[in-house]
Amino acid sequence: MNDQLERLNRLPLRANLRGISPYGAPQLDVPILLNVNENTHGVPLNVREAITAAVTEAATGLNRYPDREFTTLRQDLADYLGHGLGAENIWAANGSNEVLQQILQAFGGPGRSVLGFPPTYSMYPLLASGTDTEYLRGVRADDYGLSAEDAARQVRELKPNIVFLCSPNNPTGTGLGLDVVEQVYAAGAESQTIVIVDEAYHEFAHDGTPSALTLLEGRERLIVSRTMSKAFALAGARVGYMAAAPEVTDALRLVRLPYHLSAITQATAIAALTHREALMADVEDIKVQRDRIVSELTRLGLKPAASDSNYVFFGGLADPGTVWQQLLDAGVLIRDVGIPGHLRVTAGTEPETTAFLAALAEILDHAPELRS
Ligand SMILES: *Cc1c(COP(=O)(O)O)cnc(C)c1O
Repeated sequence: MNDQLERLNRLPLRANLRGISPYGAPQLDVPILLNVNENTHGVPLNVREAITAAVTEAATGLNRYPDREFTTLRQDLADYLGHGLGAENIWAANGSNEVLQQILQAFGGPGRSVLGFPPTYSMYPLLASGTDTEYLRGVRADDYGLSAEDAARQVRELKPNIVFLCSPNNPTGTGLGLDVVEQVYAAGAESQTIVIVDEAYHEFAHDGTPSALTLLEGRERLIVSRTMSKAFALAGARVGYMAAAPEVTDALRLVRLPYHLSAITQATAIAALTHREALMADVEDIKVQRDRIVSELTRLGLKPAASDSNYVFFGGLADPGTVWQQLLDAGVLIRDVGIPGHLRVTAGTEPETTAFLAALAEILDHAPELRS
């Protein structure tokens, strides 16, 4: 590894890429994978069949470049989101990470800045480095909350070109009130700050949780980002998207690579959107498992945060590293997000969730000193 690093450092790498590590959540061969917030329920049979048929059809035309404007997919995504959105409001790419990267390419870059509020999604600083945008670390309350007044004050002081608001926040799982989005947007008026609300997990929110989509009307600097990686169980297909004013999609056209969304990807996403009923039923089951994790962890004397996502962030651990390792030894991979006293677990299927809870209870039973 050191030799590898030495050889990397001999290359004429850009200064702001020196010394940083690539995204690297462990990909291990373990029976129960609850570490990267994937949809644990798999792709339902009828959706698999629809995707297979659509991809077979798309294969006939693979000698040609795909529809560069992915018009059908954009219309289908607009219909799915509702709120009076049309295809002209929608943009998609290979995962919402690519959408976010395109936003930074268009609105960030050298001499510009992006503000995030750690602890938050670990990709934000990496996307900033990759586009040579300065990453500004905002401050949250001690309980990781973020009030509208506090967030707006930081935007007024720092005048970032872009702000990331992750709702529900990864890794803490807590949603932001729309007042935070409204006040941050207003605070960015002078600096013309682009406000990105990352709603990757919105489908898992408790019923009645409003989306920032309701705020798009009349706010041309507001972007709401979504993904098919989580609720739609399509992490492997790489499809993310955003909704915003039509001129934002025009800005992203300036930086996207031509034909960036393959015909296979477009066909897959359209098929899944068309057959989303079974997928949404799985989302409901995942919410049940998520709520079950929160109540069971509480019963075990731990401190789970309220979650509007498909994962639970929990504290009350004296030695999270050891708990993480012992769970792994028991065949359950969860996530150590590097926050003292805490771990994060994705809601599994019912048997997976049961196995996780049983393994954790046994670990804490044998070593009570692992609790704080
Ligand atoms: C998982 C996740 C995404 C999704 O990334 P994709 O590139 O669409 O797979 C985006 N934002 C957050 C906060 C996430 O946790």
